[in-house]
Amino acid sequence: MDTTKPEMQFIDLAAQQKRILPQLQKRITDVLLHGNYIMGPEVIELEQKLSDFTGAKHVISCSSGTDALLMVLMARGIGKGDAVFTTPFSFMATAEVIAFLGATPVFVDIDPITFNMNPSSLTKAIEAVLSGDSNVYPLPSNDKKRSRLNPGAIIPVDIFGLPADYVKINSIAEKAGLPVLEDAAQSFGSEYNGKKACNLSDVAATSFFPAKPLGCYGDGGAVFTSDDGFAEVIKSIRVHGRGTEKYDNIRIGINGRLDTIQAAILLEKLKIFTEEIRNRKKVADLYSALLLNKVDIQTVPKGSTSVWAQYSIRSDARDVLRNALKKNNIPTAVYYPKPLHLQTAFASLGYKPGDFPVSEELSNKIFSLPMHPYLTYEQIHHIAGVITKALI
Ligand SMILES: *Cc1c(COP(=O)(O)O)cnc(C)c1O
Repeated sequence: MDTTKPEMQFIDLAAQQKRILPQLQKRITDVLLHGNYIMGPEVIELEQKLSDFTGAKHVISCSSGTDALLMVLMARGIGKGDAVFTTPFSFMATAEVIAFLGATPVFVDIDPITFNMNPSSLTKAIEAVLSGDSNVYPLPSNDKKRSRLNPGAIIPVDIFGLPADYVKINSIAEKAGLPVLEDAAQSFGSEYNGKKACNLSDVAATSFFPAKPLGCYGDGGAVFTSDDGFAEVIKSIRVHGRGTEKYDNIRIGINGRLDTIQAAILLEKLKIFTEEIRNRKKVADLYSALLLNKVDIQTVPKGSTSVWAQYSIRSDARDVLRNALKKNNIPTAVYYPKPLHLQTAFASLGYKPGDFPVSEELSNKIFSLPMHPYLTYEQIHHIAGVITKALI
């Protein structure tokens, strides 16, 4: 191993920090000096900047992407007996919040080229729930004996940074009278038909977990909506269901606030974010050019852009490729090795292998390459070279 070269990072947060360290330090010091650690001025400033960035009228910052999803479902009154439609090819949190509220995740398989929720499968899944007929589409089997589920909401996920097909999904939702919650935890900064992610349906949730495209130095997230009344409810839920006065509680809520220090960090990172997105796209475009026809690449449809939270490829030779990369000190990761319907935590739903074949196949073949805005031309060529050689 060449010890003179710095080790290649899967996500290089240190390179980003090095670039803006004095600004970050100043922002953090400002918070230490004013001492408003909870809901300080940086939180208000950040929410305004995120609103300007996405075009969503209201931004309610919060403690994590998971809590953002949770608060939205709470505000919609989702609970026992409700079916919430989402994809099994996502991070645990997406379906976890549904089950946490006592509602039932009803999974909808993904499209094989975008890896996002397949709208025609969504239509079938809604039909199946309405008729209680799992011959129409696979349903949670334990609900057969129970009273029928009511369709409650749809949570499409913008997987790896690519927005789902909102034209079709929003139209299906409208016909069915269902609200849509965009899980934009990975797609903050992406675009879809000229609009920004987090502003593509009724309401959206994002995450500022450090490894996300826009990350803070701890946990953080936000809810986005242009509905005034709904925004007020989310703000109330964020602080224990607060009413108009401090110790007036009008509903059940959570402690869901974003720390002021995290907002301060995000404000500095937001300043370089547009340039970082451009660099992410350059990295992805070069990968794609070098790997074309060698492995399957997530397809970005016309009218969409991705922030490439992950650059993921699908290959029958996954293990061979990952081993070859590992030997060259190139880190890789598998998102996600097990689709959600096959997770032990959801065993009680009674789904079985074969229910969502596209997600299952992807879980067996997908892996992600190093992706961050500071990858060099040489590093990308090196990675693609190792893959190309391993495939011969
Ligand atoms: C990261 C992530 C979440 C959860 O965000 P946290 O901030 O980690 O709670 C939810 N959904 C998806 C798709 C994610 O990638």
